[in-house]
Amino acid sequence: MNRIFESNFNTRKMTTNHFPSKLLENAVNEFANLPGIGKKTALRLVLALLRQDKEDVINFGKTFIELKENIHYCKSCNNISDAELCGICSNPARDHQTVCVVENIRDVMAVESTHQYHGIYHVLGGIISPMDGIGPDDLEISLLENKITNSGIKEIILALSTTMEGDTTNFYLFKKFSKYPVKMTTIARGVSIGDELEYADEITLGRSILNRTPMDDIISF
Ligand SMILES: [Zn+2]
Repeated sequence: MNRIFESNFNTRKMTTNHFPSKLLENAVNEFANLPGIGKKTALRLVLALLRQDKEDVINFGKTFIELKENIHYCKSCNNISDAELCGICSNPARDHQTVCVVENIRDVMAVESTHQYHGIYHVLGGIISPMDGIGPDDLEISLLENKITNSGIKEIILALSTTMEGDTTNFYLFKKFSKYPVKMTTIARGVSIGDELEYADEITLGRSILNRTPMDDIISF
């Protein structure tokens, strides 16, 4: 396929039956398997890659293979890391007695970008969602419990999405850990009800961390 034809390639009328090459179709399908990438976007990305030097395309592929083969999940907080312990857990300047519990690593990145929080994290790997068949056993909760019992944790900040699933998870964790002498707080509702944490702006999210609320004030038995 020459470059002129490539650049004029009509992506709008593209259907799976019209691929001129099985190799091209396979590559498009790989991209289209990713979340948020439709067939048309996938085709644009594949054609852009095809226009690059062979060396660059090989490096592109190698980057993802190396990522998959060498990435670690921090053995202390379940954050993604290049080493067994992530850069936050291994940083002595962080407050290791305060743990911010989040749903996923995107939320760690969101809270870090506020520059308002200096404790450590715990990544649950999801939130309780009966509709999606996700229960407490599917989340990384025992690692957090180990940390509470063994590491002198003084405060747990529940920084989960302000959705029904987030509230259910907050309630579950509050009940489960209420037997331990640890203060439990949740981020202030500067984050709108129903918001995903990672989409909150940095100032709002930063303020929510600073003005966190004790869980006892929210849940009374
Ligand atoms: Zn860590």
